Amino acid sequence: MVRVRLAPSPTGTLHIGTARTAVFNWLFARRHGGQFLLRIEDTDKERSKPEFTENILEGLQWLGLSWDEEPIHQSARVEHHRQTIQQLLDAGLAYRCFASEDELTAMREAQMASKQAPRYDNRHRHLSAEQQAAFVTEGRMATVRFRIDDQRSIEWKDLVRGPMRWAGADLGGDMVIARRAPADQIGDPLYNLVVVCDDAAMGITHVIRGEDHIANTAKQLLLYEALGLQQPEFAHTPLILNQAGRKLSKRDGVTSVNDFRGMGYTADALANYMTLLGWSPPEGMEERFSLTQAAEVFGFERVNKAGARFDWDKLNWLNGQVLHELGREELLKRLIPLWQDAGFAPAECSEAWCLQLCELIGPSLTLLADGVDQAKPFFVRPELQDDAKGQLEVPGAREALGALLKLLPEGPLGAEEAKPLLAQACESAGVKKGVLMKSLRGALLGQLQGPDLMDSWLLLHTRGEDGARISRCLG
Ligand code: GLU
Repeated sequence: MVRVRLAPSPTGTLHIGTARTAVFNWLFARRHGGQFLLRIEDTDKERSKPEFTENILEGLQWLGLSWDEEPIHQSARVEHHRQTIQQLLDAGLAYRCFASEDELTAMREAQMASKQAPRYDNRHRHLSAEQQAAFVTEGRMATVRFRIDDQRSIEWKDLVRGPMRWAGADLGGDMVIARRAPADQIGDPLYNLVVVCDDAAMGITHVIRGEDHIANTAKQLLLYEALGLQQPEFAHTPLILNQAGRKLSKRDGVTSVNDFRGMGYTADALANYMTLLGWSPPEGMEERFSLTQAAEVFGFERVNKAGARFDWDKLNWLNGQVLHELGREELLKRLIPLWQDAGFAPAECSEAWCLQLCELIGPSLTLLADGVDQAKPFFVRPELQDDAKGQLEVPGAREALGALLKLLPEGPLGAEEAKPLLAQACESAGVKKGVLMKSLRGALLGQLQGPDLMDSWLLLHTRGEDGARISRCLG
């Protein structure tokens, strides 16, 4: 049984990179009829906040990434982590390091001065019992370090990147697995140790996470081995890059799922887009798909090794597609609150009229919020823009509009009756049809750009607005 997990740290809102990792985990689990679990890595007491956990869970839910089982809170498992560290100490695979912060800084500075890469020089790996006792008597605090053999080569077959090899010598020396604490205690257990304990306890079969964790994977594999635990498989997914090709960061403005939500992107479009950030659908499959559709074909063989560049045009296109697929009823349901917030009064118009408006503007929406701007001239009489004013100065424009005004019926107007009215007005003013059409657009919508003119006119006629808007242009 495939069991994967997302292990977010609740030190901020749901990040787009975490959400994309969640998508890949979810797709892989669903593809294999497996389980997708959550583990909240809340061991950083200062920076972890319950409101961030809430935001992360809510964001995942919004995206449609349902999880199995109750989320695990890592902080609740600290005793287990400490026991594991004790086990490594007892086996001689870990030891206490009494080096002070100042000593470690001096060591690193000396290494850098002699052009060596900074690393822990394993100075306390072989302390004698007397040396240890002396440090304890001195009242020194100690970290716990896990021994890393420089001669080791760590190898695994990554599901995305293929065969991987990491030299033990490149892991920075014996690694700290528990923070500094009085020497008769074990300090706060640290990330690599804790992740291995928890992934093993949760029965995780595949660890799917960003490629920034590759060096951690090498360290974690050594811990699996030392603890005699079954190693999971690993898949390291490409980073998300900004348009300049650098890792997407806070400086890029939008990084949190909240930001995208606030900008009006739909969950479906964002989930679809995140899947495409690093994965390409098999030949013959469209780029617009649901998570369920993607889960039928998802596999790591189609995940790129190279970083995935963020492409706003594609996200916008997908969002437009999703909005078009909604259908006019659903679109109306989502637009009504936005229209109300904008001060429009949809309640004064019939539902049929609102639905027609949705049908008219729907195809040109990229973001839901565009539905406010585009609906505005139908609710609120617009000011004439310069292009519309210019159009009214075209010879014959006002005459044609005046002729049309006289022909407008009091009652309802259908498309079939409207067309001959235009032809008649053109004839009586002696202008080409194009002149009247452009002028009518300017008069009705205040500018020369916009949705289908005939449909716009008929909608405005239903509200008795066409005559009033034409009249104001004639004076
Ligand atoms: N808490 C880690 C992070 O958010 C988890 C990494 C992992 O998946 O092991 O980066």
